[in-house]
Amino acid sequence: MTVSDHTPSPHSHRHTPKPIPVYFRREKGRIVHITLGLVHEPGSFRAALEALPEKAVNLLAVSISNGAQRTGTAEGHIFAEIESPMTPEELEAALRAVPSVRHIRVQSDVEGRIIDDSFPPRVSEAGRVLLFSASSFREALTRMRTAMGSGGAVLVYDFGVYLGEQLAQEAVRFFGRDFLRGHIAYSMRMASSMGWGNLEVLEPDMEKGTATIRAHENFECYRMTGAASPYSQAVRGMLAGFFSGLLGTPVSCQETECIAKGDEACVFHIERSTAAAEEAAVLPG
Ligand SMILES: [Zn+2]
Repeated sequence: MTVSDHTPSPHSHRHTPKPIPVYFRREKGRIVHITLGLVHEPGSFRAALEALPEKAVNLLAVSISNGAQRTGTAEGHIFAEIESPMTPEELEAALRAVPSVRHIRVQSDVEGRIIDDSFPPRVSEAGRVLLFSASSFREALTRMRTAMGSGGAVLVYDFGVYLGEQLAQEAVRFFGRDFLRGHIAYSMRMASSMGWGNLEVLEPDMEKGTATIRAHENFECYRMTGAASPYSQAVRGMLAGFFSGLLGTPVSCQETECIAKGDEACVFHIERSTAAAEEAAVLPG
């Protein structure tokens, strides 16, 4: 490959967790959820923060995004502990007085618990997403495979292929095919940041249509033990679907090493599909 790729640093699989605020609980004190619409221009968030009482607000989570680009409004969410006698109404009034604040709502806790009441969740500028814990999703897939045997494994694989194709479509639309092919290791971070696993792309050759992916903490095999053969079907399918969508040609994906059978990471090999590879792709159980 002649195009230079983003080379993963030796620390590329280091943990940098990305908390997504949904609920908080405190036994003492008050919590608020401030929903803000801000004029989408430099300095507007800073102006809003400056209107909050100094030393009285302990931030728990903050997110600001250009969610509604067409209207020029940036959507913001602030979850914070409040240590001042200020009421939510007073807080709301203080923020409403800031010129860059277009709309504002302050949600108070219920007996020290607060649950985000906004809807729907979105990833960056793409469509709606659905959140559930990786462990509950893994368990759901495991149940399907237990109930349906090798048929279940095939279903889970196909499910992964579909999600991978969709992810490739979204990536192509947003970044362009040339960018993705030229920076495939970097582009794979999209799937990592959405929780599939901490994915490193090694030795990609987009001309030949081959790549090796090392998945650290593949959500599907994570904490699974005692597998006789590589276990992943959903992530294997996702990778096959993603690379098929990216290359515009069917690819096969084989898992050769797997944490569920005691290896250090799950390792996948991508190559352009042949009839033989297709046949080998359907693993038992
Ligand atoms: Zn695995």
